[in-house]
Amino acid sequence: MRILLVEDEPKLARSIARALEEEGYAVDVEKDGLAADRRLSVHHGDYDLVILDLLLPGKDGIALCRDARERGIVTPVLMLTARDAVEDRVLGLDCGADDYLVKPFAFVELLSRIRALGRRPRAAHAPVLRVGSLALDPATQEARCDGHTLPLTLKEFRLLEYFMGRPHEVVSRQDLFDHLWDFAANQLSRVVDVHVNNLRAKLIKHCDDVSIETIRGIGYRLRF
Ligand code: CA
Repeated sequence: MRILLVEDEPKLARSIARALEEEGYAVDVEKDGLAADRRLSVHHGDYDLVILDLLLPGKDGIALCRDARERGIVTPVLMLTARDAVEDRVLGLDCGADDYLVKPFAFVELLSRIRALGRRPRAAHAPVLRVGSLALDPATQEARCDGHTLPLTLKEFRLLEYFMGRPHEVVSRQDLFDHLWDFAANQLSRVVDVHVNNLRAKLIKHCDDVSIETIRGIGYRLRF
């Protein structure tokens, strides 16, 4: 899951980004509303969530969110507001934000809101993803095969989650990189291949009927 964090207070932005990265999310940070607006118009497809501060230089969070929705951008938005005023919250939700959080907040609260927003699109049918004898639960962040928990790192978990949402589909390295790594990661490094190879080795060891196939020159495919 890749997150765009728009927050102009450097200290807060750093600590939120660090907390999210520790949870295995890829995070890009923008400190200015106009810059965030530009990035969102071009790259919104890369993001699974936007965490948006209300008061920003350049363009405020309300205008940013409203304009994004008017352009048809449906990426979930979690609004941060420093003021616990009812009208701010209503305004935040009216502009098309999916949820809001009042500063100061505890990181556990932020993380639980993010999980809830991440779950929302598929909550109606199957919160647990199943492919063959492999089951992945986004809520508990556990992947199990025949009752055994796979010893995955968070990045491997996110990779597997991405693959399991697209069984039998060819997924390109670029797709994986765009969804699971942030702009700061070095694209030339073989970072995607290294993590996929580690995940593949764990599947071979722990799961008989699900495997990751390499599609030469393109990427990978989850098979079962
Ligand atoms: Ca601010």
